[in-house]
Amino acid sequence: MSAILIDGKATAEAIRSEIAREVKAAVAAGRRPPGLGVILVGENPGSVVYVRNKRRACEQAGFHSLQIDLPGSVSQGVLLDNIGMLNADPAIDGILCQFPLPKGLDEQSVIDTIDPDKDVDGLNPVNAGRLAGGLPGFVPCTPKGCRELLRRYEIPTEGRRVVVLGRSKLVGMPMALLMMSKDANATVTLCHSRTRDLAAECARADILIAAIGRPKMVTADFVKPGAAVIDVGINRIDDPSTKTGTRLIGDVDFDAVRDKAGWITPVPGGVGPMTIAMLLANTLQSWKKRK
Ligand code: NDP
Repeated sequence: MSAILIDGKATAEAIRSEIAREVKAAVAAGRRPPGLGVILVGENPGSVVYVRNKRRACEQAGFHSLQIDLPGSVSQGVLLDNIGMLNADPAIDGILCQFPLPKGLDEQSVIDTIDPDKDVDGLNPVNAGRLAGGLPGFVPCTPKGCRELLRRYEIPTEGRRVVVLGRSKLVGMPMALLMMSKDANATVTLCHSRTRDLAAECARADILIAAIGRPKMVTADFVKPGAAVIDVGINRIDDPSTKTGTRLIGDVDFDAVRDKAGWITPVPGGVGPMTIAMLLANTLQSWKKRK
């Protein structure tokens, strides 16, 4: 039997509409809209597209958005001064600086300078600590989006065995913490490049979340029959049959796994669209707290 397809695009659109409705009502009642400040350094084409998409999503949701473009040659000091300005701006509830930064600039000091209460990417160590400690704070957008997909598709997590593949600060680690939190109550195994018998570890999972950046590495023998498979990976591969000569695929061998899994996310159209929806959700959360 073929797995239920988890439609991240439709789910993200539904969440974005819910947020837009809430903002519209608040603004009609005289409140200022939520505000997101975005810093773009240099002209990395991928970053330019990501920032454009994030701003567009903000505008569609009725948010105030402020973009600061800095040249790739900017000094660390001027970059941090701009973050300080956004920290102090009362119209701004969330701040993000698009990574990767050009060579020579230090990403960690940028993360450390963002006010933890405006850190809607959830990368500041204060928010990582809050997540680990079970305290309220900002959760990074991609793992938060995966959790939301599980919730909206009513995939049970309590007491279930979850395997997270990948331990990055951005995805794997917060994903594992979210799944072992008292909200999800799962039993979690976190795998990485030094894990032995990776396929066997993964094949024990009721929910398998892959975030490794290795095209199609998760094959059918990694998957327990009926498991939910969440594919975070975004890998660009050559494909001469397309107009651009490339296409995006996930970490999961979708065609091989879809007949074995119970649920599966496609790439594109699965986790990806949820990331921007969760950026809006985190900014809304910050705005509500400031009420
Ligand atoms: P990182 O490169 O930071 O981390 C990759 C993780 O995968 C590491 O923990 C690494 O292990 C592990 N890993 C790599 N190769 C293997 C292997 N052969 N076997 C087992 N584990 C392995 O990546 P990110 O977490 O930032 O991103 C992961 C993927 O998710 C990428 O494809 C990225 O593009 C995508 N992504 C998608 C987003 C979305 O919106 N959908 C957002 C963010 C990322 P170790 O720690 O031992 O090196």
